[in-house]
Amino acid sequence: MKDFDKKDLMELRWDPTLREWVLVSDARRRRPWQPKNFCPFCPGAPETGYGWDVLILENRYPMLREDAPEPHPHYFYRKRRAVGKCYVVIETPEHDLDDISDLPKEHIAKIIRLIIDKIREESTKKYAKYFLWFRNKGSEIGVSLTHPHSQIYVLPIVPSRVMREIMSARAYWRENKRCLFCDLIEVEKNDKIRILTENERWISFMPFYSHWPFEAHIYPKRHIGLLTELDDEEIDLFAEILRKTLCGFKKLFASKSTPYIMVLHQSPLKKAFEYYHLHIEIYGLLREENKLKYAAGMEIGGGNFTYDYDPEENAERLRESIKRC
Ligand code: ZN
Ligand code: ZN
Ligand code: FE
Repeated sequence: MKDFDKKDLMELRWDPTLREWVLVSDARRRRPWQPKNFCPFCPGAPETGYGWDVLILENRYPMLREDAPEPHPHYFYRKRRAVGKCYVVIETPEHDLDDISDLPKEHIAKIIRLIIDKIREESTKKYAKYFLWFRNKGSEIGVSLTHPHSQIYVLPIVPSRVMREIMSARAYWRENKRCLFCDLIEVEKNDKIRILTENERWISFMPFYSHWPFEAHIYPKRHIGLLTELDDEEIDLFAEILRKTLCGFKKLFASKSTPYIMVLHQSPLKKAFEYYHLHIEIYGLLREENKLKYAAGMEIGGGNFTYDYDPEENAERLRESIKRC
């Protein structure tokens, strides 16, 4: 781990207009130059060594640190210590693998089990409020290291989108005495047209309210909030449905693998939210072969997505693609 440079700016800044935190760190631009053919995630690199098939390492250029400095107070604006942890999950020793859906489901289950161990470990830390696991796939979204990997942010705050979902779920729970997400699953089973694939314990569907041209949400059928609550069979079947769904994205267009963002939405770590239900969200970033969907003026500036297709038709295309896996 690189020694922390006290001159580095690292803090959370509160946006009082949108009521959300911005993670500020200028340490990342100090990343040293690396030779073109050197991969820090390959077996035998200084931090990886040999004899592993999945590896979780601390991110050398993190947004959050366990020993983050106390920020200088501002007379008006709110700040917080950027205390937390950033990890990289190196999902396979195979540098040239395109996507984790190319791995056998047993290997994906191994990745999930390692992440669950990490959640258990981080849950004991005082700073750990939230455990966000995410995966960016494709050079289109600026992934510089092609070696298959995902990331973990252990945060001292609950991310805004998850917070919004928790608030919605709480209001729904109070009004209906039921879980919003359990009800969504029932509606999707009833409508059927947006279901992508399903097994005994999990369901994958394209949401009615999809923001991205091709989008998949994967839910456990049992009402649970944290990944650590999954039983063994649920972990194995999670690996299976995740592999299938991602493979559907990969095979969607003949000439190239769909770039995507995948994120785990689960409960905050310590407080129990009985009305929250964990799920995975996958956003495919292509609208057609070689045509990227950009989040631009309306989406970023206005905050509402535009959807140029028929969501149910696109759900069918993605479902057909999964069948080819
Ligand atoms: Zn590599
Ligand atoms: Zn539920
Ligand atoms: Fe969500």
